[in-house]
Amino acid sequence: MLASRYNEVLVVFSLIVAILASYTALDIAGRVSTAQRGARLAWLAGGALAMGTGIWSMHFVGMLAFSLPIELGYDLWLTSASLLIAIASSTFALWLVCQRELPWPRLAMGASLMGAGIAAMHYTGMEAMRMVPGIVYDPAWFALSIVVAVLASGAALWIAFRLRWHSTWVVFSRAGASVAMGCAIVGMHYTGMAASQFPEGSYCGAANSGIDTGWLSILVIMAALSVMATTLIISVLDSRLEQRTASLASALSKANSELMQLALYDNLTKLPNRMLLADRLGQAIEKARREHKVFAVLFIDLDGFKAINDAYGHHLGDLLLVEVTQRIRGSVRGQDTIARLGGDELILLTEIGEPTDAAKIAGKLIETIRQPYSIEHHELFVSASVGIAVYPDDGLAPHELLVNADAAMYHAKEQGRDGYCFFENSMNANAQEQLRLLQDLRHALERDELRLHYQPKLIAPDGPIIGVEALLRWQHPERGLLSPDQFLPLAEKTGLIVPIGNWVLDEACAQIQRWRAAGHTSWNIAVNLSASQFAHAKLIDSVRTALQRHGLEAHNLTLEITESTAMRDADSSLAVLEQLAAMGVGISIDDFGTGYSSLLYLKRLPANELKIDRGFVNELGQGGDDAAIVSAIIALGRTLGLKIVAEGVETPEQQKHLTRLGCNLLQGYLLGRPMPAEQLIECYGETPA
Ligand code: C2E
Ligand code: CA
Ligand code: CA
Repeated sequence: MLASRYNEVLVVFSLIVAILASYTALDIAGRVSTAQRGARLAWLAGGALAMGTGIWSMHFVGMLAFSLPIELGYDLWLTSASLLIAIASSTFALWLVCQRELPWPRLAMGASLMGAGIAAMHYTGMEAMRMVPGIVYDPAWFALSIVVAVLASGAALWIAFRLRWHSTWVVFSRAGASVAMGCAIVGMHYTGMAASQFPEGSYCGAANSGIDTGWLSILVIMAALSVMATTLIISVLDSRLEQRTASLASALSKANSELMQLALYDNLTKLPNRMLLADRLGQAIEKARREHKVFAVLFIDLDGFKAINDAYGHHLGDLLLVEVTQRIRGSVRGQDTIARLGGDELILLTEIGEPTDAAKIAGKLIETIRQPYSIEHHELFVSASVGIAVYPDDGLAPHELLVNADAAMYHAKEQGRDGYCFFENSMNANAQEQLRLLQDLRHALERDELRLHYQPKLIAPDGPIIGVEALLRWQHPERGLLSPDQFLPLAEKTGLIVPIGNWVLDEACAQIQRWRAAGHTSWNIAVNLSASQFAHAKLIDSVRTALQRHGLEAHNLTLEITESTAMRDADSSLAVLEQLAAMGVGISIDDFGTGYSSLLYLKRLPANELKIDRGFVNELGQGGDDAAIVSAIIALGRTLGLKIVAEGVETPEQQKHLTRLGCNLLQGYLLGRPMPAEQLIECYGETPA
């Protein structure tokens, strides 16, 4: 047998190349697994090429390290074939580890195939020497080399499969695994070489093919290294890019979801807002249409919420609203939608079997909301008015259902609040009627259709008259005489109240001046101010102008503002009231007892009159707490030095009772209804003070 020798430097190089090839293979395996669909194929092809070239060049460098005492050479075609075999088995191996799963049978089969591939590459490469006579293989070593190839491949596949995913520690474990794999590949090669024996007198058939082995080794090493280096660099860059893209994408999706949250949910209650509601409503309609189902839209509006907001501030109002929505959420089913339209308006979408179900749900909601609230040490009460529209009977489109539920809710309010109402077609007609009424109201002033009626205020128990309250009427050309409740809310909503209010002020001053001229010099006239008039910047000017124009003194005029108006924006209200009081105008707090005035605040108001709300007067004598409340109000007013007026006196019992309780002035149908000026002077004109 010929004695063989190894060039140690080249052996070390073959090991380095094997380790690098392994590292490249593991890295690419990770790359293929995480790459996007389109890039996968490119990475698989490029990776197989780099890995195949790597393994092959390890083998080839190993061959070049080997020398016999005879001249050696390599057949170009067989050498190329061995390279192709290396690339093919690499492709297969990479493809295998990039599958979602790698069960043991598949791993075993893969290891066998890949081991066979590497062995085939090795022995084809050996054949490229074209030894004559042929190489003699020691069967035991030959078998061992195959076993090593299969085991090394199995280990490599398993490690590659486990290390597919990127993570921080993966670089280190990958490096360790590469060393192990490199050693295994090299081990296979040198076991295979140990199996080969070259009989004495052999010569190399490829020795004269002309490829110089010295240059060839350098060329192969350089080529293999550069292929692998390029692959690795691209892989690192690509993974960086991918990580950046991924982190950008996640930042973007986070920002996006925050934006969605802001755009679609109410900030305070975290309930869906109007926009999301429209979407949910659309979906509900779609579903109900498909499955022939029925669902209800409940329009929930809180009663008395505004008063609480005015009295305790927005912060407390907000807390209350959150509490209310939590109660609602607790009393409905999970699949129902609750949304906030804004303010204290909430919507509940709920699937029902029949309309009576909606009534049950509404009743339950109202009951839940009505329970007292304890917020920041205040005990608060609100109730809710609920309007119900049912799909498909009350509307087929989202907007229609909402508008109709809204109309039904208004109806519930009109019927005394704290209850629910189903939508009826007549309510819709009502909305259109309101629109027409508004158009008419815009012309009411210029067409001189507004009137003032006057209701006497008498000293308790039955006179004499000390003044009148001016109450607005609208002589509508078709509808007849309308009371303020029928058109003032509309005027308030549209701002028409300001010119109308100025007209009232002017007309009331003109009238009292006429009566004064007729001898009723002590009569005082009271004019009502609504909230938006009170908030209007020119109020003080308007009052002064009206007084001057009719030559009146300020104390001839009293302005009535409701308790809740005075409380609305307590500090600025106080400033306006103080200016009016400084002018000498009388200030009367109207509808007293219905708001949430704090006594402390009341004490600071420059008022000189309290009007007990007619709700209390009405209940008087029917037992209950009202007598106690009225006497408390009277006692309170007395301490603050205020005149007490009871309004809405309808029966002699009330008249007696109120007088006994200590009211100074009485006003009501019993003593005199609101009436035109001429009629008033007929009834009360004979006894000038
Ligand atoms: P208010 O200031 O509380 O006026 C008293 C209301 O009670 C009047 O209704 C009057 O007709 C009614 N009333 C008087 N005595 C009795 C009685 O014995 N029993 C009953 N059940 N009711 C009685 P009216 O005239 O319909 O006015 C309603 C509200 O409209 C007024 O409530 C006031 O807040 C507002 N208002 C009236 N005129 C004007 C105005 O010129 N400007 C403004 N801003 N508001 C006005
Ligand atoms: Ca009044
Ligand atoms: Ca009143």
